[in-house]
Amino acid sequence: MQFTQGLHRAVQQKPDEIATICGERQHRFSDLRDRVARIAGLLSQLGVRRGDVIAIQALNSDRYIEFFLASSWLGAVANPVNFRWSAAEVIYSLKDSAAVALFVDDQFASQGAAIKAQTPSLRELLFIGDGECPTGMRDVEAALPGVAPIDDAEVGGDELFGVFYTGGTTGAPKGVMLSHLNICSSALSLMAEGSFPEGVIGLHAAPMFHLGDMMLIAGVLLRGGRHVAMPMFRPELALQAIARHRITDLLLVPTMLQALVDCPAIRDADVGSVRRVMYGAAPVSEALLDRAMLALPGVEFTQVYGMTEMSAVMTVLPPSMHLPENRGSGRVRSAGRAAYHMQVRVVDADDRELSRGEVGEITFRGPNLMKGYLNKQDASAAALRNGWMHSGDMGYMDDGGYLFIVDRLKDMIICGGENVYSAEVENAIGSHPAVLSCAVFGVPHAEWGELVHAAVILKPGAELALDSLQAHCRALIAGYKLPRGLEIHETFPTSGAGKILKTELRKPHWQGRE
Ligand code: ATP
Ligand code: MG
Repeated sequence: MQFTQGLHRAVQQKPDEIATICGERQHRFSDLRDRVARIAGLLSQLGVRRGDVIAIQALNSDRYIEFFLASSWLGAVANPVNFRWSAAEVIYSLKDSAAVALFVDDQFASQGAAIKAQTPSLRELLFIGDGECPTGMRDVEAALPGVAPIDDAEVGGDELFGVFYTGGTTGAPKGVMLSHLNICSSALSLMAEGSFPEGVIGLHAAPMFHLGDMMLIAGVLLRGGRHVAMPMFRPELALQAIARHRITDLLLVPTMLQALVDCPAIRDADVGSVRRVMYGAAPVSEALLDRAMLALPGVEFTQVYGMTEMSAVMTVLPPSMHLPENRGSGRVRSAGRAAYHMQVRVVDADDRELSRGEVGEITFRGPNLMKGYLNKQDASAAALRNGWMHSGDMGYMDDGGYLFIVDRLKDMIICGGENVYSAEVENAIGSHPAVLSCAVFGVPHAEWGELVHAAVILKPGAELALDSLQAHCRALIAGYKLPRGLEIHETFPTSGAGKILKTELRKPHWQGRE
């Protein structure tokens, strides 16, 4: 299995069909192959060798996809960098991965020189923007016509495809080493559930540095579909792109799904081409799912539960489980069942497998499993025990093998000795009519250890007091799980992947104690 395989096949079958679109730019499959072979040729000329790490910091574009393809073509290791990171964070990760080259677009060109000066391994800065190439950088577009295309090195299988950094939701991001097999088998397991059929036109709205969008890149590529890249997610722009390019498939993190379905423009937008929405990467409330299904009628929703360490796919909740006739089972609140060729086990602190219904740590094994964390042997050994990835997520499985995630181990609140799962409280709060979005976490308390605390973003014009919120929740969850504190926010701090950073929300409450 090889990342570039889908491109080769598409070039044979439909060389003249449009493969990538970005703004006003588009490339046919034959052009795409030629460009990729030349970019790989350019890298080779610059002394980049098989196994070398090459990094990219850019907004989403067709050139980002070409970067992944060219890296794979040459047998290099792709290292996408979070575009929200500061220069210091980029330097930290490039030193960690020992990247020899960095691709940047207009947005990130200005800090390139400073990053290079402080990263000893970094020899080349390559510019893939639309504007003028800054001095000291190699202009890829200007160079390509003069570069001879090279042959695909046909690197694949267990060899390294890339180093992807985790979301940094619970601490410093870790570099995850993933092989070609990891990436392709993840995309294939989604394909087996009905994603990326013939004729797929995918909108890359989620950031490409995140492994979530890599599933859309790899899946659409394997199928020989069309990629439409939008630089950054904006709900109005996404709606325009959907209508203009007849988008069939979307992959969205919950904050994007929410922004899209709550965007007033959706009422008049032409979203009739959309067939499938994949969502995941963080919990989604049933209330949001209901709004989404109302705003996008007839669309198949698929939930993916994934983590970087598992090449982004562990379990899948298929479209059928979202339908009204199957709602009675409550499984729409689960993360679905093990994806094809994945195994799931829920274990206790001593790694003993628990019975169905019992809450423990969720562990995984299968071909999607990472090769390990880069330069972090201890963390690798702690996470990978007896061949099983310990996810750090808590959950249970029902009799049918549906996995219910209850919380992250690190987000669980222990109140008077009782475990309170923040996600369950969030679901209850999320169904309050005044609430747009919420995050629940523990705050320190002398007597109870921790108290359940809610941070809430209200719907426009709405008001909310703690007692009314408690009254609403009392009908849904046990008394000890009720929020004991409430704070109203305009926005939440989020990670590069759009996840709410509870670490940041918690900080003011825990100052001096953590
Ligand atoms: P870090 O590991 O650096 O703290 P992170 O865990 O957010 O960051 P990712 O690998 O991007 O980094 O995210 C994986 C995590 O996201 C999972 O362990 C899980 O907690 C959460 N997650 C992913 N998909 C879902 C889902 N469908 N439902 C609930 N949670 C999910
Ligand atoms: Mg994680």
